[in-house]
Amino acid sequence: MPLVDYFPLFADLRQRPCLIVGAGQVALRKMTLLHRAGADITLIAPRATQAIRDAHSAQKVRWIEAEFAPEHLTDHVLVISATNDDAVNRHVADIARAAGRLCNVVDDPANCSFITPAIVDRGGITVAVSSGGRSPTVARWVKAHIERSLPQRVDALVGLASRWRESVRARVPAGQSRQRFWLRIFNGAVGEHILAGRDAQAERAMTRQLAAPEQDDRSGTAYLVGAGPGEADLITLRGAKLLSEADVVMHDSLVARSVLELARRDATFINVGKRAGHHSMTQTQITAKLVDLVGQGLRVCRLKGGDPFVFGRGGEEALALEHAGLSFEIVPGVTAASACGAYAGIPLTHRGIADSVTFVTAHGCQRGRIPNYADLVRADRTVVFYMGVKRLPDIGHGLIAHGRHRATPVALVQNGGLANQRVITTTLGALADNAHRDVASPACVIVGEVVALAQRLAWYEPTSSKSSHLAPALSFRASN
Ligand code: SAH
Repeated sequence: MPLVDYFPLFADLRQRPCLIVGAGQVALRKMTLLHRAGADITLIAPRATQAIRDAHSAQKVRWIEAEFAPEHLTDHVLVISATNDDAVNRHVADIARAAGRLCNVVDDPANCSFITPAIVDRGGITVAVSSGGRSPTVARWVKAHIERSLPQRVDALVGLASRWRESVRARVPAGQSRQRFWLRIFNGAVGEHILAGRDAQAERAMTRQLAAPEQDDRSGTAYLVGAGPGEADLITLRGAKLLSEADVVMHDSLVARSVLELARRDATFINVGKRAGHHSMTQTQITAKLVDLVGQGLRVCRLKGGDPFVFGRGGEEALALEHAGLSFEIVPGVTAASACGAYAGIPLTHRGIADSVTFVTAHGCQRGRIPNYADLVRADRTVVFYMGVKRLPDIGHGLIAHGRHRATPVALVQNGGLANQRVITTTLGALADNAHRDVASPACVIVGEVVALAQRLAWYEPTSSKSSHLAPALSFRASN
């Protein structure tokens, strides 16, 4: 049994004789593709559409006005049968197979010795997508996906690479080091300039880089990127882009595997997260490591759950980078409160119900006392507590003691925005009475009248009851 059903290849068909049987819409499509590849096309069919007649008159194709007969197959390297008659198609396939020619019967994988992929054609780069004939529709869907993610100006990148190919050959030894050189070019300043349309700057950067081929053209940079609550489609496009370019990814445990998969395969992954029972780095160690790696000239993506500047200690890391004179960029993320609100159907503010929202860490809560929280008790304010799971009674007592009503609605949103989200709606009084001991981290506590709107707005149906989102660096190279 072969490991793959089809061997992918790009064939040079210029001036090569190819045969198409049939002359309808499908035949026309195949003819157009073959014509673009410069093939010498013969088309057999007793009747033909006007478009094919026109192509014949324009000498793009030789049309033989006949039913297919075995002697039509001469020196053709490949055969496509695109008639609407299954028997004819099978007959063509049999003849072609017996003659040892590659044959494709449209929409009939069993009679194909080659299949045509879905194609993404962008400026000199061709991506061919195949499902091995099992589902052309899925292949087309994947193709659309690739089309969206491929930079618009990839043609400019191809142009640059082919313009400089000879100079690079002359200057950089073949093999791994040349390959590494080009990767540095595409992922580095030259690539950024080109994709952003700054052609002149790209040329200048290329000249500089070629003068010192082994040197990284970019000094180290830290990207402090918010990964959002978990699933990969809630990270920003900017965050995903920088993540995909980083040499090193330093991530928290709360970052989902699907997000980490956006990184380069050859990136180094460092899980700096705090997880029960596992050795973890202190914040001081994390910051020192980050500064060290960036100082070495690496591009380090410091990937944090939610938003790096909301209870993420991103500020401390940025200050350390600033202090060391290193460059950094901050990319916001969907913070837990936003994710929990959206996915539990709780607008954090709502006209006539809540005109302000406050994010608070419950870290400093002590029983019966919430320092500086006296202003959290207004009925028209929503309060979202982070890190509150172990302090639910304190939150309840504290707010009630400062005057918020016992009946104030509360939502405990565990794993907000994830496939295993769990939402418990309750009251401040119940929190104070320690009625919710089974809520596990990570969870947000949303306090306020807006919680009642979830009755009508809860739209999200979690799909999994299992914890899907810890990232124990299983399939990744972890090092620290
Ligand atoms: N920077 C992060 C917060 C990190 S502090 C952000 O902007 O979201 C960690 C706390 O965030 C957790 O204790 C919990 O209160 C909250 N949290 C993180 N992810 C969560 C999630 N998926 N669901 C609910 N709360 C979450």
